[in-house]
Amino acid sequence: MNSTDYLEFEELFTLIKTYIISKWQLEYNNNNKGHFCKSVCPIVSTDIKYVEAYRHKEVQISRLRLGVANTNHRLFILKRHVNGLCNKCQVKETIHHLLLECNKEDISGILRNKCQLYTDELSIKTLLSVNLYQNEVYRLVSKLLVDRFYKSILQGC
Ligand SMILES: [Zn+2]
Repeated sequence: MNSTDYLEFEELFTLIKTYIISKWQLEYNNNNKGHFCKSVCPIVSTDIKYVEAYRHKEVQISRLRLGVANTNHRLFILKRHVNGLCNKCQVKETIHHLLLECNKEDISGILRNKCQLYTDELSIKTLLSVNLYQNEVYRLVSKLLVDRFYKSILQGC
C-alpha cells in the first residue's frame, strides 16, 4: 500500500498508550488516597521507578517510597507498637517525621545538611528519588527500621 492515510501499528500503539496513561494520570490525580506515594512520584508511567543491585537496599528504599517502611506509626497500625510515637520526639513517627523532622541520631539534620550542600530542596521526593540521597537515607535508617521490626515480633507487641 502506498497510501499515507493509515496509521502504522507503532503509531497506533503510541496513541493508545498515550491515551491510557493520560486517563490513568487523571484518575491518579483525582483519587484521595496515596498522598505519600504521590509526593514521591507524582507522574504515572510504566517505567520501573527504582532498581538497585543490592537487594536489601532495594527493598528498604522501595518500602520507604511506597510508604510502608517499619516506622512506629506503621507498626502501631499493624498492632506491633503501643502508641506509634517516636521514642525521642513523642510525635507520630511517620516516614515524613523520621526523614525530615526527627532529632533521633540527627537523621533529619544530616539529610538537611546534605541537601544544602548540593543545593537541593529538602523533601521526601528528593530524598527517595535521587540516588545520592537514597544512599544516605539507607545508611541512616535501614538498620533502625529492620531491627525494630524484628524486635516488635519478638516482643509480640
Ligand atoms: Zn523523632
